[in-house]
Amino acid sequence: MTGPTIGVLALQGGVREHLEALEAAGAIAVPVRRASEVAAVDGLVLPGGESTTMSNLLLAFDLYEPIRQRLAEGLPAYGSCAGMILLADEVLDTRPDAVSFGAIDITVRRNAFGRQIDSFEADLAVTGLEGDPMRAVFIRAPLVERVGDAVEVLATVAEGPAAGRIVAVRSGQVLATSFHPEMTGDRRLHRQFVDLVAQRG
Ligand code: GLN
Repeated sequence: MTGPTIGVLALQGGVREHLEALEAAGAIAVPVRRASEVAAVDGLVLPGGESTTMSNLLLAFDLYEPIRQRLAEGLPAYGSCAGMILLADEVLDTRPDAVSFGAIDITVRRNAFGRQIDSFEADLAVTGLEGDPMRAVFIRAPLVERVGDAVEVLATVAEGPAAGRIVAVRSGQVLATSFHPEMTGDRRLHRQFVDLVAQRG
């Protein structure tokens, strides 16, 4: 049995790490840079990087509209960090011309963790993941300031300066984390996404 085909938006950012994590989790992972590639995937990962740069490139490469349409039709998606920003309904502290897909009903604020905790790591209990807490790496992460009624909070930071902050969410077939599981070798979250995509195929 072969796994589902999952694309990684490959305009900028942590593309290779997600491709590797998805392959390790049982998917056929492919980079996505053009509309024909958007049409061919069963699910899409939006990586970390710089959301305003990715926004510019999405428009320049005529990828914004094809991806927005597939997401609106129910394409499963997972966004980490800048990818979470791109999936969000509303983005604060961004550039006025930056676009996002409105695929999950959350409001995020960019670079909002403040200077002392610009980058940090934390152990997280993530709903749906069995075993040990997940080591989460945060790098100039977005803060989730609002979640809609249909959005399930999967993880919050337990302690330290960022205690209580929402850092993983899911709404139907869309997952988003403000941290980077692709950087730690823990494949549980990618496996959960691959399973979600496989179930919908
Ligand atoms: N601060 C970045 C942005 O706003 C996100 C950082 C990341 O993806 N690690 O796009």
